[in-house]
Amino acid sequence: MTVDALADLLADATRVVAFTGAGISTESGIPDFRSPGGVWTRYDPRDFTFDRYVDSAEVRRNSWAMRREFFAAAPEPNAAHRALAELEREGRLTAVITQNIDGLHQAAGSRNVIEVHGTAREVMCIGDHPRAGIAEGCDFRAPTTWAFERIDAGDDDPRCPRCDGLVKSATVSFGQAMFPEPLEVAAQHATTAELLLTIGSSLQVYPAAGIPEAAKRAGAALAILNDEATPFDRIADVVVRGRAGEVLPTAVATALGR
Ligand code: NAD
Repeated sequence: MTVDALADLLADATRVVAFTGAGISTESGIPDFRSPGGVWTRYDPRDFTFDRYVDSAEVRRNSWAMRREFFAAAPEPNAAHRALAELEREGRLTAVITQNIDGLHQAAGSRNVIEVHGTAREVMCIGDHPRAGIAEGCDFRAPTTWAFERIDAGDDDPRCPRCDGLVKSATVSFGQAMFPEPLEVAAQHATTAELLLTIGSSLQVYPAAGIPEAAKRAGAALAILNDEATPFDRIADVVVRGRAGEVLPTAVATALGR
């Protein structure tokens, strides 16, 4: 389908909710998981499980090194992130639900951002010996730079300054339970949306991928913008196959009459 069909849906809707995945940030230079050159072709997925992080100081050290690589690259929002921020400013978009941990929606100016997989910009205490994927720490949270400063000062496995528990990036790792609150808020937005627009997600990771389905069941129109097919294309009202940073700014500008 064409970009015009997406623009028409956007022009008519006042309660748009965006649901974004790693594909909205590839044009900012952050690789997604599944494409060639993506994260999984360069790191061992077994290192990303919650239990391995808890069990091994070496895994924790590697994880901090990877986070530092990400911060050093200093990724910036692209035209797709900015187009969503503009839709929100114009009063058309009520929330961005994102699977991303990169903080680029906020950097582009989006205000109501629901991060269902947490954020790489902060760290949190997960307690001393958490198990079964559930973080059991105290309420210590800090910017990720706090961990880098500790490491630079010679402490290569920083612990919580309040309770001495393990500290981890405030993201949801494989094998880690989702944070319940953002999922609940995301479900509320999805089920009251007029239009649910998914951008740059393979829609394969549950329970987050259930959000567009829930929106459609609750009566929203569903639009999917992705550069490859997704399992939900057959129930979508509009499917646009293309690059987010090219398609979305055009569709938004057309919808807003600019
Ligand atoms: P995914 O890797 O499963 O899917 C991304 C999709 O976007 C793919 O279908 C890909 O073909 C498509 N895509 C890539 N570049 C695109 C572009 N420029 N325009 C349009 N489509 C494009 O990612 P996912 O669905 O978000 O789920 C995987 C998990 O990966 C999520 O949990 C997410 O938290 C995590 N992740 C996040 C980041 C980040 O924060 N930027 C990066 C990698 C992975």
